Amino acid sequence: MKKIGVLTSGGDSPGMNPAIRAVVRKAIFEGLEVYGISQGYKGLIEGNIQKLEVGSVGDIIQRGGTMLQSARCEEFKTEEGQDKGIEQLKKHGIEALVVIGGDGSYQGAIKLTKKGFPCIGIPGTIDNDIPGTDYTLGFNTALHTVIDAIDRIRDTASSHERTFIVEVMGRDAGDIALWSGLAGGAETILIPEADESFDDIIARLHQGNERGKKHSIIVVAEGVMSGNELAEKLKEKSGVETRVTVLGHIQRGGSPSAFDRVLGSRFGGYAVDLLLQGRGGRAVGIQKNELVDYDILEVLGKEHHIDMNMYKLSKELSI
Ligand code: ATP
Repeated sequence: MKKIGVLTSGGDSPGMNPAIRAVVRKAIFEGLEVYGISQGYKGLIEGNIQKLEVGSVGDIIQRGGTMLQSARCEEFKTEEGQDKGIEQLKKHGIEALVVIGGDGSYQGAIKLTKKGFPCIGIPGTIDNDIPGTDYTLGFNTALHTVIDAIDRIRDTASSHERTFIVEVMGRDAGDIALWSGLAGGAETILIPEADESFDDIIARLHQGNERGKKHSIIVVAEGVMSGNELAEKLKEKSGVETRVTVLGHIQRGGSPSAFDRVLGSRFGGYAVDLLLQGRGGRAVGIQKNELVDYDILEVLGKEHHIDMNMYKLSKELSI
C-alpha cells in the first residue's frame, strides 16, 4: 500500500482534527502518501482531493470542527454516487480510505468496502451511539460543554428557586443526557432507553421542594422529546412552571478535551496500522481502554447499549 485517503463526514465533532492529524502523520511516518478529501462524500464525488503533508495538519490538534470540512451527500447513497467516488479514488491512485464520522458515514464506508474498496471507520460523533466502542470521538468534549452549561444554569436556578429543563443532543441515544445529568447533579434525567412517567417526574419535583431544595434541573435527551414539549406537558399535568434551555449546536463546537485529543490520536494511528497490515473493512473502537477493531459490516447488526446501571445510580442519587 502506497497511498491512502482520509475524510470526515456527517455531523462534525471535536476530536476529528486530532484524528486527521494522527492518520496523516502516522501514515507519512510509515512511508505512505496521504490524501485529504474535503467535504466528506460530496467532496469525494466532486474530486475535492489534495495531498497532505506533515505541515498540513499543524496547529489543528486543539481546534474543534474538522479541517477537512464535513457534508451530507444524498447522491452517495446511490450506487452511481458510490461508483463516482471510487473512480475519483482510483484516479488519484488511492488504495484505501479512512472515514471519520457517525453511523450514516459508516454506511457509506460499508458500501465502498462491499464494492471492493477497503475502508476503515473511526467513530466520530458527539452522540456516543456507535456500537462496538465505549466512546466516540467528541462525546467527552460535548459532555464538558453540557456540564459547564448546567453549572451556570444551576447558579441562576438556585437564585430564583426555579425548575430548569436542559435539552441535550444524542439523536436516539441517551448517553449525553445520562452522563451530563449525572455529572451535573440533575434531579431528573430523561433518556430514550428508559420510560419515566410524568407522575414520577412530578413526584420527584415535589419531594425536592418538601426538603427545601432551591432548584431543580431536568436533563432531557432530544430523542425523548423537545425541552419545550416537556415544559408544556409538565405545566399541563401539574401546573409546574419551568424554564427551558436548548443547548443545540453549542454541544458540537469547542476545543477538543484532552481525552478526545488522545482518543483521536490513538484511533488515527490504529487505523493506519490496520491498513499497513492489509486489514481494510474494519471499524476501530475502544473497549476497556484497549483499542479494538471489528468487521465494519458488523455495525449494521449491532446495537449501541447505554449503561443502565449508571441510570439506576443517577436515580438513587437524586432523592
Ligand atoms: P452524525 O450521526 O454525527 O450526524 P452521521 O455520519 O451519522 O453523523 P449522516 O448524515 O447520517 O451523518 O451520514 C453522513 C453521510 O454518509 C450522508 O450524507 C451520506 O453521504 C452518507 N451515507 C449515509 N447513509 C448512507 C447509506 N445508506 N449508503 C451510503 N452512504 C450513506
